Amino acid sequence: MTKLTRRNLLAAGTALPFAGLAAGAARAEAPMMGASFATHRRFMIGNFEVTTILGGTTPREAPQGIFGMNVSEEEFAAVSRDNFLSTEASQFFFTPTLVNTGSEVVLFDTGLNAAATVAALEGAGYTADQVDVVVLTHMHGDHIGGLMNDGAPTFANARYVTGQMEFDHWAGAENEGFEANVRPLAENMTFLGDGGDVVSGITGMAAFGHTPGHMVYRLDSAGAGLVIFADLANHPVWSLARPDWEVRFDADKEAAAASRRNVLGMINADRIPAIGYHMPFPAVGYVDTGSNGAEFRWVPEAGQLMG
Ligand SMILES: [Zn+2]
Repeated sequence: MTKLTRRNLLAAGTALPFAGLAAGAARAEAPMMGASFATHRRFMIGNFEVTTILGGTTPREAPQGIFGMNVSEEEFAAVSRDNFLSTEASQFFFTPTLVNTGSEVVLFDTGLNAAATVAALEGAGYTADQVDVVVLTHMHGDHIGGLMNDGAPTFANARYVTGQMEFDHWAGAENEGFEANVRPLAENMTFLGDGGDVVSGITGMAAFGHTPGHMVYRLDSAGAGLVIFADLANHPVWSLARPDWEVRFDADKEAAAASRRNVLGMINADRIPAIGYHMPFPAVGYVDTGSNGAEFRWVPEAGQLMG
């Protein structure tokens, strides 16, 4: 074996790692940029162009104050550990969806506030004025928060669609968010029941429980399908693996669990993709059946929709 000396290392070109070190030291002077995230993701479902829009993301402490309220701390910790999740904190995402059918632009839910949602919408190449229809899956603050902007409608050219049950509930609830954001738009709003169409190829389905009239929406175009399941399930593990775990934000916990099983079972059986408003961004995935006590499993989209 040849004895390695500095001279023959240089001659062999193997000194490159040393050169790399020197260059690396210089590059390390670039400033740290901070954590960052893309704010939209676009793909086709048949002839519909679908864009998920990140309207916000925030950490929340003590997730068992929200999920798994009816199980022991030990059980919550075990399921979390099995899925590489912290029991100390969880990241929340808020993701409206824009669907361009080719003739109309339909926005599902509006985020926490107009500024963040419009910024993400513009980042994806749209303007608020291009939205023809705003669909409200339900009327919690993180879904209706972007409807109004300084007292004026954010989506100036839009009509509105929501579930009849949902509207009737909040209209009688003396709710501040509803009165500020929804009531002023009510005369331009139409109401759906189970099976009602928003436009051709977009159908509402009753999925009550999270709120009294919470609805999910199914897209069907040119043989392809997708379900926008909104707040049917609010976490990829704590809601999908354990649909019976009680969630603080579910108004009727038993009905919410039954809706979860029903809709997640349909998405799984039909083998179509889904978008969940609170799934980790870009919020697109598939629903598998689970194992080891898990009922369902969220499978993030892995490039299947890029074609
Ligand atoms: Zn929500």
